[in-house]
Amino acid sequence: MTIRVAIAGARGRMGSTAAAAITEAPDMVFAGALDYKYDGWYINGGTLIEQPSGVRVYTSIAELAEAEKPDVLLDLTDPEAVFPNAQKAIALGIRPVIGTSGLTLEEIDHLKIMSEQKGLSCILAPNFSIGAVLMMKFAAQAAHYLGDVEIIEMHHDRKLDAPSGTAVKTADMISDVRTPHLQGHPDEQVNAYGARGADVQGMKIHSVRLPGLLAHQQVLLGGEGELLTIRHDSFDRKSFMPGVLLAVRESVSHHQFVNGLEQLI
Ligand code: NAP
Repeated sequence: MTIRVAIAGARGRMGSTAAAAITEAPDMVFAGALDYKYDGWYINGGTLIEQPSGVRVYTSIAELAEAEKPDVLLDLTDPEAVFPNAQKAIALGIRPVIGTSGLTLEEIDHLKIMSEQKGLSCILAPNFSIGAVLMMKFAAQAAHYLGDVEIIEMHHDRKLDAPSGTAVKTADMISDVRTPHLQGHPDEQVNAYGARGADVQGMKIHSVRLPGLLAHQQVLLGGEGELLTIRHDSFDRKSFMPGVLLAVRESVSHHQFVNGLEQLI
């Protein structure tokens, strides 16, 4: 079966890399681009053009669905666009594969309910990198024994949301095995706002944004007289592509909501 993949965000850094990977995959077709502008334009070899050659851009997902019959909508947009895109895709019977970060817990729950009511897969992948997924799994395994955890995530300075979806997902996975408890000194005094980072599931997440970085995370697990550091670095967006292709392939053989690539590898 050839999987017809529409991409929301195909002009972006991740979307254009994914468009190239999907175009090269023997079992997939880049079937259409969903955008909020450039309706009726085309994407040809990564370039946006007005001439009708290449993959058509639509600003209406209903029109895209009608004309191009996509099986999957790969979303690589931004925190504002991702939820309405996924809702509309499920309603139209198109399986969302969501790489965009920034969905709230309520939005995730809503998509889960919609996907299960419709019997249509919806895959949420805060990180498509296989190495990063392993880093999260290893951290959750280690937190079983070393339950005092802080996370440092570091990304390029064009990233819109903080903390990263990967860091939140890591904290969620750890919280499944970690006995909830207070970390740090009970009488801790914070003298500069934010100095101790964000509190997610009782663990601190520190978000660094700097030019030069792509996507990096360290999970620090402290014990008496020891520290275990689990670190992952993505140096190139190509690191996400095997996971993108895996999620797209898996989406057509599943009929439920999948939160995290670790459920699939
Ligand atoms: P980017 O370069 O800014 O690309 C986002 C693209 O989406 C832009 O071209 C933007 O257009 C477009 N866009 C905005 N609203 C849209 C809408 N309503 N419909 C269609 N397109 C829309 O960002 P990026 O670095 O590629 O990252 C995209 C997302 O992927 C982010 O949420 C990022 O955190 C996430 N990400 C995920 C992974 C993963 O492994 N899951 C890895 C890296 C990044 P304009 O430029 O005109 O606004």
